[in-house]
Amino acid sequence: MSEPCCIVVGASHAGGQLAVSLRQEGWEGRVLVIGDEPYLPYNRPPLSKTFLSGEKHVDDLLIRPETQYEKIGVEFLLGQRVTGLDRESRTLTLSHGETFSWSKLALATGARVRKLDLPGADLKGVLYLRDISDVETIRQFLGDGKKAVIVGGGYIGLETAAMLRKLNMEVSVLEAAERVLSRVTAPELSHFYTRIHEEEGCRIHCGVQVIGFGGEGRVSDVHCADGSTFAADLVIIGIGVMPNTSLAETAGLEVDNGIVVNDACLTSDDNIAAAGDCTRHFNHFYQRQLRLESVQNAMEQAKVAAAALCGRSIQYNALPWFWSDQYDLKLQIAGLSEGYDQVVLRGDPDGSRKFAAFYLKGSKVIAVDAINSPQEFMTGKQLISRELEVDPVRIQDAELPVKSLLD
Ligand code: FAD
Repeated sequence: MSEPCCIVVGASHAGGQLAVSLRQEGWEGRVLVIGDEPYLPYNRPPLSKTFLSGEKHVDDLLIRPETQYEKIGVEFLLGQRVTGLDRESRTLTLSHGETFSWSKLALATGARVRKLDLPGADLKGVLYLRDISDVETIRQFLGDGKKAVIVGGGYIGLETAAMLRKLNMEVSVLEAAERVLSRVTAPELSHFYTRIHEEEGCRIHCGVQVIGFGGEGRVSDVHCADGSTFAADLVIIGIGVMPNTSLAETAGLEVDNGIVVNDACLTSDDNIAAAGDCTRHFNHFYQRQLRLESVQNAMEQAKVAAAALCGRSIQYNALPWFWSDQYDLKLQIAGLSEGYDQVVLRGDPDGSRKFAAFYLKGSKVIAVDAINSPQEFMTGKQLISRELEVDPVRIQDAELPVKSLLD
């Protein structure tokens, strides 16, 4: 009989962690990670930050050095795309036809960028930012004094805008909604980020609908529905991502805006786990189905998934947290603010670069956005996970040590 083999599809945050965790959980068979990018798992967040600016290089991004995987017997097949999955025969197929057998399988296929299907979207210089090769292409269009237009005022768009300003480019952000970050934060945060970006020389335009791109072979203008036009040497579109679920779908697994996983990160087939941006799970903190796009979720789900594939069921029950770096601002976010009924501010968002927003539902905190305020972030995490009741007046009182909210 051949050696049991666990194949992990996707070699990024979730896939790499899952492979390592399989060993930690005692998986003795073969572990093979198949990824379509030509790199070992690397940190994606610096792509819109220090990798874009050139401060970090590919080698600096790797999550673990190759030797660490070799030491524990994790094999990689990189630059190869899995295109077929058959649950009955427990096989998968690569794009060039090669077939592999698996006894257990993990899907860590992540997400891909949402594309804008508009006239001129195929012009040179109209770009997206998801992986190393995207940034390498973007680099060809960078330059002191050149004009960059960012379509989408979400975290990726704003981080990219901040970095391009650092590179001394002229930057405009075009956002269709009435404020930036409208999907994820309160108006107070949106106004704060708009102020900071404008202070840093970046122009933010909200309520602007992009309808197409102009240029001869290469982009030169962005056209908007209100008749306005923005000159551009480079356009970066950051309008969100979609989960990579096609393999799961063709294999008949349950998919609903993400591969549906249970508390143990198993799919509707007990021999197949899934983790990271490609999944949708029931979150016990928020009592609803969620598809999260964060490093922390990818890593934590990967650990739970590996345990389940090894026959040890643990419940995925982590409080979501995220971060975003723009200019000198380190934003740390604990929890999810959707469904809040009151925002309580601690500090001054209008005159400083340091404050925190506590999102309350009833008398309990459900999320905290902390800007250059690590203590508020740490305390917020505890308030949320311990479901403590808090008095808004005490939150606002910056004279009180924030930790006293836990008393
Ligand atoms: P992914 O990283 O998307 O990896 C999936 C991998 O699987 C990819 O390499 C993909 O090519 C591969 N793949 C897909 N299908 C196949 C197939 N059929 N065959 C083979 N390979 C396949 N998160 C934060 O928490 N904080 C941040 O500050 C932050 N900043 C970010 C900045 C940028 C620019 C980007 C793009 C993301 C950022 N994120 C951030 C999000 C974070 O990077 C993702 O949540 C994380 O990468 C998810 O990891 P994953 O392994 O689930 O999926």
